[in-house]
Parts: sequence; C-alpha cells; structure tokens
Amino acid sequence: MQLNKHFAELRRRFTTDREHCGFITEYCVVEVSNCAIDPKTHFEISEDDVELYLDAAVATWHSHPESSANLSLEDHALFAEIRDCRHIIVSPTEIWVYYTTPKGVVMVEERFCG
Ligand SMILES: [Zn+2]
Repeated sequence: MQLNKHFAELRRRFTTDREHCGFITEYCVVEVSNCAIDPKTHFEISEDDVELYLDAAVATWHSHPESSANLSLEDHALFAEIRDCRHIIVSPTEIWVYYTTPKGVVMVEERFCG
C-alpha cells in the first residue's frame, strides 16, 4: 500500500486553525468532521463515521496544527486500539506514518518530510 501518493492531498487539507481527521481507503482520502470540543488541539471522530469508514480504511489520519508529528498520549491510546492499520499524523513540516503491530505496540514505520 503506497500511502505516500495521498500525502499531497493530506497536505492540501492541512490548516493551522484546527485538527483535521479522517481515513484513507485504498483509493482516496476521506475527511470527516472533527467532533472534539476543542478541535484546535484534539480530534474526535463520531461513532457513525467510524462505523462507516473504518472497515474499508487502510489508515487513519489527523493533523497537528502547531506541534510536531510526534504522537500524543491520546494518539498512542487510540492507535493501540486500532490494530493492523496505519496511522498518519500531518504536522506543519512533516508527515509521519505509524503502525500498530498485532502485539499492540505502536512504532514509527516511516517518516517523510514535506
Ligand atoms: Zn494527534
């Protein structure tokens, strides 16, 4: 699965006013509403959107408007729950891809600048 073909699209969706979030299917980037109370520093995806897209997703993605693409504690907890799936964080300067192994360990698989 070539996730980097979607990086330009993720970069286009990046804004500094809020975290954006969604899924990547085999074919496209899907952006869903960020339901967090404070979308500038958090993201939350509705149960309905999770139900709709997670099965078809090869990755989740969200952005960090002002910090690095390093995962937060909340990100770690969330990623650990969604196994066999890649997780992308888009920061102002980087796009990092994480992967949760079957043991539940989250590790950085690839790092891209841009
Ligand atoms: Zn995050």
